Amino acid sequence: MTTVLLTGATGYIGSHTWLALQEAGFSVVGLDNFSNSSPEVLKRLHELSGVAPVFERASITDAAAMEAVFSRHRIDAVVHFAASKAVGESGAQPLAYYANNIGGLVTTCEAMRRHGVKTMVFSSSATVYGDPKYLPYDEAHPLSAMNVYGRTKLYGEQILRDLEASDPAWKIAWLRYFNPVGAHESGRIGEDPRGVPNNLMPYVTQVAVGRREFLQVFGGDYDTVDGTGVRDYLHVVDLAEGHVAALRHLLDQRRSLTVNLGAGHGHSVLQLVRAFERASGRPVPYRIVDRRPGDLPAFWADATLARQQLGWQTRRDLETMCADSWRWQQANPNGFDC
Ligand code: NAD
Ligand code: UDP
Repeated sequence: MTTVLLTGATGYIGSHTWLALQEAGFSVVGLDNFSNSSPEVLKRLHELSGVAPVFERASITDAAAMEAVFSRHRIDAVVHFAASKAVGESGAQPLAYYANNIGGLVTTCEAMRRHGVKTMVFSSSATVYGDPKYLPYDEAHPLSAMNVYGRTKLYGEQILRDLEASDPAWKIAWLRYFNPVGAHESGRIGEDPRGVPNNLMPYVTQVAVGRREFLQVFGGDYDTVDGTGVRDYLHVVDLAEGHVAALRHLLDQRRSLTVNLGAGHGHSVLQLVRAFERASGRPVPYRIVDRRPGDLPAFWADATLARQQLGWQTRRDLETMCADSWRWQQANPNGFDC
């Protein structure tokens, strides 16, 4: 059985990918330091999969701990989710972001190299495309970064390209995610941001459940279908299945790849709000306020390459994303703090 180490395993995307990998027949070792997730996730994963989670509480920045993890388990490949991801915070704490996202990546790769593990799936982001020169973004679009978080992804990608160039035995999947939303259909795991959500969907669900009074829509005068920002939302379970496809590609084809993981089309903020109201039967009061500094008006993926290379495309539509986000929020009004 192929054993995969998931860093950031109890986070939002990591937890859904953990289940998807197990369903696909992989054995999983999860690793997290709970800096942005809860140990409760492990109980829920056990309940959903029927398999007791194999888990290591450790930081990817701790070289000794990473060495111990690779010594204890026979790892075949790594899916590297662990990172800090708040754009605003990244500007205020650049050193912390570089230490975690870059230092942690290097430490993880060093432990892998020492143990002869040279297959990695890397969580990159559409943010590496920067200001759109054209849309949709395809994988050949020029790269640039608009904030510290974006630079950690851009530099992270480059570090892995240098590593692959130095030793072609490394097989790497650079996965550029668009905007994951939704939750597992059981309603038992989902996105549980700490404090005030930065992202649209968790904010919408917290308004619908009564935790917040109204949604602030950042900007109503963009050159888009209704003046509000447009993004490419994809269901987190589709995204998780994209990781399974990418890992299989690396293991079977022995070829690296860089692909967008997105739906291939965009929705505006108000389109998402309306879809959510339909799916939940709850009103989502909102007010249009100033644009959020640094926001792009619109972007979405060219999702052709993932379909061609991985046979992967999204299967769950916006209604399903909203219905699943709502099921999760309603059943867990305070997230994993139950
Ligand atoms: P998340 O915060 O829910 O998950 C990340 C996990 O990593 C958390 O459980 C956190 O505790 C853990 N972690 C952070 N630093 C760690 C460290 N030093 N050692 C061990 N564990 C550590 O975030 P997510 O949304 O699941 O994102 C996963 C990855 O995908 C990240 O790399 C993120 O940058 C990337 N990404 C996310 C999105 C998105 O919209 N959610 C979009 C593009 C890319
Ligand atoms: N957005 C909003 N109100 C919020 C959060 C987000 O209007 O409280 C908008 C934001 O301006 C963008 C879209 O929703 O147009 C998606 O924002 P998110 O932060 O989720 O993703 P990102 O901007 O990082 O792609």
